[in-house]
Amino acid sequence: MISFNKPPFVGTEFENIQQAIDNLKICGDGAFTKQCSSWIEERFGTRRALLTTSGTSALEMAAALCHLEPGDEVILPSFTFSSTATAFVGQGARLKFIDVRPDTMNMDENLIEAAITPRTKVIVPVHYAGVSCEMDAIMQIARDNNLRVVEDAAQGVMSTYHGQALGTFGDFGCYSFHETKNYSMGEGGALLIRDEEPIEEAEIFREKGTNRSRFFRGQVDKYTWVDWGSSFLPSDMLAAYLWAQLQQADKINDNRLASWNAYHEAFAPLAESGRIELAHIPDGCTHNAHMFYIKCRDLADRTAFISHMREHDVQCVFHYVPLHSAPAGLKFGEFVGEDRYTTKESDRLVRLPMYYGLTDEDRETVINAALDFFDRS
Ligand SMILES: *Cc1c(COP(=O)(O)O)cnc(C)c1O
Repeated sequence: MISFNKPPFVGTEFENIQQAIDNLKICGDGAFTKQCSSWIEERFGTRRALLTTSGTSALEMAAALCHLEPGDEVILPSFTFSSTATAFVGQGARLKFIDVRPDTMNMDENLIEAAITPRTKVIVPVHYAGVSCEMDAIMQIARDNNLRVVEDAAQGVMSTYHGQALGTFGDFGCYSFHETKNYSMGEGGALLIRDEEPIEEAEIFREKGTNRSRFFRGQVDKYTWVDWGSSFLPSDMLAAYLWAQLQQADKINDNRLASWNAYHEAFAPLAESGRIELAHIPDGCTHNAHMFYIKCRDLADRTAFISHMREHDVQCVFHYVPLHSAPAGLKFGEFVGEDRYTTKESDRLVRLPMYYGLTDEDRETVINAALDFFDRS
């Protein structure tokens, strides 16, 4: 079976983990954590990057840093992972789901303004498949209406919009290093902070409500409990695993892009004939080949496709069930405007195997099995 995902592994992870153990420092904020954070700050150009225990915990920290009052509203797409929403529910927010653009499956920037009310506090763009939302328009709306922007860039590490890294536009950017993402530590993430002002509070939230980070920098002579917080620091052993991959970030990115481009070339004729649809990469965006998806005709066509692929030993998977129709989505929010695309498009979207190290041979097997399906139906 050609699996949909394989966790990334470059070969130097074990040495690094051994080094973390030899350092006698396997809790958070050890040498590897610092290397990963500095690398993210320098490579992507953000003021501060804090490693976290997951993309979800990065989103939770970002939501807490927005200082919401119960009943404040957050605008987000319905076509996303539960974490995007639940992080804000944890702060008492009401969710206002808006429709996606069918070409990128990202929030439709033209629908944001109609969803703004006096209670709106945050816009949460999700960069689906590592392809950027329209950040110029979104940041302009945020400035005009005095709103915060929290980017869910869980899938967008190494992608850019007009040359700038995803996750660095908003007040906060959230990365995931889960095993299904392009760079991984098993479970992990990072919070990117654009401005100086929230950094100290972020460090306190991440360190169980203490000012321990200042203590370690010698800025206070003992540390104490100063605010709300939780334990959002990952082990340095996990950061050691991630560091191996960040050092080879370009190699991983190039390898994934080669697979993505080969898929794209193979399926372009089917897209031109109108049998399927492919993702659109808007001008000014570079993507990280996080995902290769196609859109079938409808739900029945997709179901048949997935079982055809399974019969050919290829695992293909669909994606999000729109949050606004999920039990928690009904409880914590509502869709604003018309659901023109979210449900319809999510019903026909299917993802093909895509991971670092996908062999040419396996990729050909996937392509041939898929072409066989579409030739016959
Ligand atoms: C993976 C993902 C998350 C959650 O990241 P974890 O590290 O698994 O907690 C959040 N949002 C999106 C869009 C994701 O793809």
